[in-house]
Amino acid sequence: MDLQELMSGWLEAVKETGFVAKGSIHEYRRNCGRKSCKKCASGERHTAWQMTYYLDGRQRSKYIQEGQLDELRRAIANGRKLEDMMVRFGLEYLDATKKSGKKK
Ligand SMILES: [Zn+2]
Repeated sequence: MDLQELMSGWLEAVKETGFVAKGSIHEYRRNCGRKSCKKCASGERHTAWQMTYYLDGRQRSKYIQEGQLDELRRAIANGRKLEDMMVRFGLEYLDATKKSGKKK
């Protein structure tokens, strides 16, 4: 297997993996700010989510809407698969391009 074959195998694998993301989803409770809200008045408050991630060496977080949760969870799972694949393709590269033991 040469580098060209390895590369097309990689692109195929990325295509099959689909949409990816990297970060972790955290659930928390927050106040909605409405004065008449019974949930907030009772202390129950509202469930909210944020994604924590690292970018440019800094930890950051971003609010997630409820309708975005499922797709984001899938994308993060796909991202983990992609990271595994990166390790595997690196190993495959080392095996595929290793010269035979005999020195010329
Ligand atoms: Zn509220």
